[in-house]
Amino acid sequence: ALKVGVLALQGAFREHRRMLESLGVSVQEVRLPADLAGLSGLVIPGGESTTMGKLMLDYGLQGPIRDFHAAGGAIFGTCAGAILLSRTVLGAPPQFGSQPSLELMDITVQRNAFGRQVDSFQTDLEVSGLNTPFPAMFIRAPVIGAVGEGVEVLARQGKQVVLARQGNLLASSFHPELTRDARIHELFLTFIPQAPVYQTSVALPG
Ligand code: GLN
Repeated sequence: ALKVGVLALQGAFREHRRMLESLGVSVQEVRLPADLAGLSGLVIPGGESTTMGKLMLDYGLQGPIRDFHAAGGAIFGTCAGAILLSRTVLGAPPQFGSQPSLELMDITVQRNAFGRQVDSFQTDLEVSGLNTPFPAMFIRAPVIGAVGEGVEVLARQGKQVVLARQGNLLASSFHPELTRDARIHELFLTFIPQAPVYQTSVALPG
């Protein structure tokens, strides 16, 4: 059966877990590199990207997550998770030093791009491939400012890109796990290879 990991260092990982389980997927919470074994997909949740990125480095997960993707594993980053997937991060508070990211997806992400006054809002979003709008929840959300050639834009809020795909990588500015609408998760599941890609036989660092 399909097994999907949810990075469980910080943030809204329980909500992703619940959503995936409601779709009949078995879920593994990922805190250490060994937790990636047997997975074919991984969700990186929303939360606080500087904190999550630092924890990711502390737990030695950055290399193994890149290896997991190189082996064919699909990754879905929501909000802070999208920031962690991106090649370039703009708008990180300078006092925290450089922003750790996996640099897997050819996108530039601007943090907290909807301004501090509008911390949070919900809107009906037109998403390419969906017949009816998706109730998208934005919470101190980033926008995807620039996309590379291999990146397909799936949704815009006004002029801003808020959902994009590159191969089996998916990034959303908003939080589909906080709604009852499972269609974005279902879309992600279609990117996931049926067989586990990352076996324990793959050498794990440390
Ligand atoms: N503002 C957060 C960040 O930049 C992301 C917010 C979220 O994940 N809801 O890390």
